[in-house]
Amino acid sequence: MSPEILKAAFADNLNFAVGRPAEIATPEDWYQAIAFSVRDRIMHRWVRQFEKRNAPDVRQVAYLSAEFLPGPHLGNSLLNLGITDNARKALAGQDLDLYIGLEEEPGLGNGGLGRLAACYLDSLATLCYPATGYGIRYEFGIFDQSIKDGWQVEVTDKWLLPGNIWEIKRPNFAQVVKIGGHTETYTDEHGAFRVRWIPDRVVVGVPYDTPIVGYLSDSCVLLRLWSAEAAQSFDFADFNRGDYYGAVEEKVFSENISKVLYPNDEQLEGKRLRLEQQYFFVACSIKDMIRLCLRRGSTLERFHEMFCVQLNDTHPAIAVAELMRQLVDKYAMPWERAWDITRRTFSYTNHTLMPEALEKWPLPLFGSVLPRHLEIIYEINRRFLDEVRTRFPGDEGKIARLSIIDESGEKYVRMANLAMVGSHTVNGVAALHSELVKTQLFPDFHDLDPKRFQNVTNGVTPRRFLGLSNPGLTRLIDGRIGDSWLSNLDRLRELEAFAGDVGFQQDWMRVKLENKTRLARIIRDRTGVVVDPSSLFDIQVKRIHEYKRQHLNVLHIITLYQRIKHDPRLQITPRTFLFGGKAAPGYFMAKLIIKLINSVAETVNQDPAVRDLIKVVFLPDYNVKHAQNIYPAADLSEQISTAGKEASGTGNMKLSLNGALTIGTLDGANVEIREEVGAENFFLFGLTCEQAARLRAGGYNPGDYCHGDPELRGVIELIDSGLFSHGDRDLFRPITAHLLERDDYLLMADYRPYVNCQQEVDHAYRDRHHWTRMSILNVARMGKFSSDRAVREYADNIWKLKPFAPEA
Ligand code: PLP
Repeated sequence: MSPEILKAAFADNLNFAVGRPAEIATPEDWYQAIAFSVRDRIMHRWVRQFEKRNAPDVRQVAYLSAEFLPGPHLGNSLLNLGITDNARKALAGQDLDLYIGLEEEPGLGNGGLGRLAACYLDSLATLCYPATGYGIRYEFGIFDQSIKDGWQVEVTDKWLLPGNIWEIKRPNFAQVVKIGGHTETYTDEHGAFRVRWIPDRVVVGVPYDTPIVGYLSDSCVLLRLWSAEAAQSFDFADFNRGDYYGAVEEKVFSENISKVLYPNDEQLEGKRLRLEQQYFFVACSIKDMIRLCLRRGSTLERFHEMFCVQLNDTHPAIAVAELMRQLVDKYAMPWERAWDITRRTFSYTNHTLMPEALEKWPLPLFGSVLPRHLEIIYEINRRFLDEVRTRFPGDEGKIARLSIIDESGEKYVRMANLAMVGSHTVNGVAALHSELVKTQLFPDFHDLDPKRFQNVTNGVTPRRFLGLSNPGLTRLIDGRIGDSWLSNLDRLRELEAFAGDVGFQQDWMRVKLENKTRLARIIRDRTGVVVDPSSLFDIQVKRIHEYKRQHLNVLHIITLYQRIKHDPRLQITPRTFLFGGKAAPGYFMAKLIIKLINSVAETVNQDPAVRDLIKVVFLPDYNVKHAQNIYPAADLSEQISTAGKEASGTGNMKLSLNGALTIGTLDGANVEIREEVGAENFFLFGLTCEQAARLRAGGYNPGDYCHGDPELRGVIELIDSGLFSHGDRDLFRPITAHLLERDDYLLMADYRPYVNCQQEVDHAYRDRHHWTRMSILNVARMGKFSSDRAVREYADNIWKLKPFAPEA
């Protein structure tokens, strides 16, 4: 698409869609005009593929996810359409990057899980798979984080306020969803015994569609997000009686369902509204698939041939019962046939081993929201447990563990068990995690049917996270191996040949320094802290969680601080420690860790004795947009979770792909990253997951580690002394007391190996050529971690899905 054509499109859209003369157009107006022009081109592709996508024999994947974190669309869509350079030319002298930077991102997710879903949509589109991502159009996404006096403050995310150009409302495909009430039985006209659900309210789900275009593929997939509306905007009976407020109440009540994203990552919040949200989007999505299936002239007997449905964690697991309800209650299918179709339709991805994240709903709550589903789940469970009993007679313990209903105390519906029973395949998200899913999380299900278990290691899209966010490195790589690696990441291997090339290394270092300089400016502008771009950028960006151990990183910072204070002539590699991440608003310890980071930063950054050898920065409001500025500037990637706790991680992949070396434990996908990049190019420390289990089993006493290590003791004492808290000795006591008394995440045991490993990092960074060689090799060997590879594995091994050739 030539610059001239784009120029005309921008002018037309400024005129007709935005309605502003060029002479007075603001940057926001220009952003809109460009975005409309890009959307037009995506729509053109979308419409052209309509026939192909909807052909009767095309099988589709529906990716059900309560979270999607796509990031801003404009820059990525320009890249994927291959028109960034021409758009720049078309704007002749105007700053395209400024306009791109104005876009609000849809923060419809908490972190890794939602971002993974977005990476998969990018790859599904790029690889021309027919796919729809189904989710919730939260009016308020993940909160914006600001920092006041060192503490996290949550601000509502009003991402829709400036309007959202990328979505199209489709009221004609709206669906009605029932909630609450009771069930009753009746006999139908054929004399058959049937059940119907009499709800006590109904809401309408209205879909908003965002087409996602693939990279140079001419292909699109759809992100279809449901927004809740009242069945009627006003209750006219109330209105006519003069009760205006009563009349709008129902509207407000219904719209609450898609109002706000629950901001908890790896933590269950057993709230009624959350269950309603899950059911709401699942019910709309299943009905939408049924509609599409019937519209294509198929019968529901073939539902599982037309759709495969991936459950992204247990949040959409109620889909199992909902499809059964539709097939049995509405379409009068015999139970056995409906169950066969259901089992062939669903597959389930497990994302967590953390017990506090495994979803379960108190039975009375579940029954009051979804009375008919509870009955269906009981029936699924009864039939399933009968099978178990015949295979393991008398093993009541096994039966209790496998049951969808937890009856060990207060009764709960276990969503993971429902997802397991209702799916043909379950997968973990990294090799180690998939093993732990078999051996620790679901050993009884594994005994029952080992073939059902698979692994698909997560992946990330190299388009957004290298092509878009690191143009300097992209150009450098293109210059050596051509540009086809962006859609064939394994080709990065060809860079290995240049790892020892001094000229290439210098170019590599130059690009890294440019990226660090850019980030240093952002840090200064956003926090006021001045950092030195030539220092080692040591980066930990991810949700704040005790298992991710940001506080272990802090213990190392205080260790260095203490050493510098004790020895005024000490020479260490200058470092900038950068943190970013949100804490769940109700997670006290995580919020206190943010305060600790900021408090240590305040003390260390201002102490002249430190001689600027270390700087500590907390960059507020970590999101996809900021992540894109941070990854390219990282020298060291902190992936230091307690072994056995992180399912995979994807931040680890993005940082390594941008040339950061990893300091990490053998946890999640770190294990595979290390295998790929080579042990000599990875800083490994800490307990393995077996060692951690043994340590816990043998009676772990964290205090012993502290008392046996004077340096560690000094660090803890320094925190407790009030040095970082203006004399307040109690402020951080919940952290230090927990570390000394319980230390669930084994920081005390891993402290010394971590600090020693950091010393190796310090030495290694001094040999810049060797460091750069390691950095190049990290990038060269990241091919495996492309989301293209992951999506192909899902398509081949789980979905049995074929790509279709888009129109030329
Ligand atoms: N949050 C955001 C905004 C991200 O972009 C990512 C990316 O991977 C994550 C969280 C997940 O980070 P991690 O895998 O390190 O937990």
